[in-house]
Amino acid sequence: MDEPLTLENFRTEMSEAALGRGYLYFKNGWVKGPREMLPEYYEYTVHEVNTHAVTFSRDEDTFTDLFCTCDPDDILNCRHLAAVMYMMGEEEID
Ligand SMILES: [Zn+2]
Repeated sequence: MDEPLTLENFRTEMSEAALGRGYLYFKNGWVKGPREMLPEYYEYTVHEVNTHAVTFSRDEDTFTDLFCTCDPDDILNCRHLAAVMYMMGEEEID
């Protein structure tokens, strides 16, 4: 990843496959969270057939230390992270 992921750029930075499935997971209500595990360090869980946990650090609008328990080859291909990004994006629309 060249630049940090944000709620503005995730739709172009993440893979189409991840975005497509992640959007469905979000719309199905499968995303739960957040849980603040440490200051500015959050966990969401995504309940599909298996439950996966997505964790990241958030500093204002940027997301770093992105991790998912599905252990993707590239976090930008992670449908769980995509689902979480859609959920956060929707919640923060003014
Ligand atoms: Zn994942």
